[in-house]
Amino acid sequence: MSKSKYGINTICTHIGEIKDEQFKGAVSPIYMSTSYQFDNVGVKRYPRYFNTPNQEHLSKKIAALEHTETAMIFGSGMAAVSTTLLAFLKTGDHIVVQNTLYGGTSNFIKEEFPKYGIEFTFTDGYEVTDFEVAIKPNTKVIHIETPSNPLLTITDIKGVADLAKSKGLITTIDNTFASPVNQNPVDFGIDIVMHSATKYLGGHSDILAGAVACSNAHMEIIWNVAKNLGGSLSDFTVWMLERSMKTLVLRVKAQNKNAKKLAKFLDGHKDVKNVYYPGLKSHPQYELAKSQMKGFGGMLSFELAEGLDAMQFQKELKLIKSSMSLAGVESTVLSPHKTSHALLTQEERDAIGVSDRLIRFSVGIESKQDLISDLEQAISKVKKSKLQTQELKTS
Ligand SMILES: *Cc1c(COP(=O)(O)O)cnc(C)c1O
Repeated sequence: MSKSKYGINTICTHIGEIKDEQFKGAVSPIYMSTSYQFDNVGVKRYPRYFNTPNQEHLSKKIAALEHTETAMIFGSGMAAVSTTLLAFLKTGDHIVVQNTLYGGTSNFIKEEFPKYGIEFTFTDGYEVTDFEVAIKPNTKVIHIETPSNPLLTITDIKGVADLAKSKGLITTIDNTFASPVNQNPVDFGIDIVMHSATKYLGGHSDILAGAVACSNAHMEIIWNVAKNLGGSLSDFTVWMLERSMKTLVLRVKAQNKNAKKLAKFLDGHKDVKNVYYPGLKSHPQYELAKSQMKGFGGMLSFELAEGLDAMQFQKELKLIKSSMSLAGVESTVLSPHKTSHALLTQEERDAIGVSDRLIRFSVGIESKQDLISDLEQAISKVKKSKLQTQELKTS
């Protein structure tokens, strides 16, 4: 673990800046070259080696935010996840993974690992004991994701990290949902932190990127695979990401605040059955969340009351958009049963609590009252339709 001497807002604004020595401009210049002079020390600079000036500098910002020695930028969150897992697993190895993961990660494991002869076990639950019973003699890695998607379940980061250490296993976490503003897994003993930078790090729904943060020793292993798989990011987008990350803390704190207020509003609404948000005292793991998160994040889920149509609800929303992705400054919603969990059977969805009335809500930075009014008017329209259908049936 390595801590910067600067506060988090200063890290976002200044760490990883490239000084514009020539023109004294206020922001980092972009170096778009894919060809660099081979210097006598033998440094080979090439974008796919993840060592162009913009890549190297932005990595410093991400490492400082995650309290790690180093970091690396990837072309997507999936490039970061797939490269990292493949770096620590080979034929005959086994990985223990948390039972609910981002759909893309889950598909990657299920579809690709069998081709490499890598074994995997999805845990039955989220308790440390669920991870412990899944460990085998050939286990090498434990992979977690907390808060989980879409029900915001919390995994005990320190508990899992301690378990892994006692067995000599490597731990990896997908920290996308929390962002480094709300959660620093390395402080609790996790080895490797991954991000889909497409989400909070980018924050404006216009950048596809990924990142990994860890020790120099682990990064060397990851880099050796990364250069072969080639999942690097264009320097223009690296520069865009640096620009976006200057306001990371401001954005995420505004999203935390809005999400908490909206979670409370929905929780007290008679037409909403369940609200899933780790910052609500009624969340079964509120205490655990409080012990490992600095803020509770901008993601929440809620289930409309029985008989209310979630698809119609989304169509009725005027300000809040329906969207496949998340974490932008604009508020968005989606139906997990139609999107991320569409490939599961109804029974499988029921088993994990993803009903067809569940809405995942990525809370943005809009004025709270406007979001509440939008939710309110959409709910009342869906209720009206429900009453009309009931009248039709009885008449
Ligand atoms: C979106 C997402 C990913 C994948 O990121 P891409 O940038 O789309 O490749 C991985 N993990 C989580 C938790 C995500 O939300």
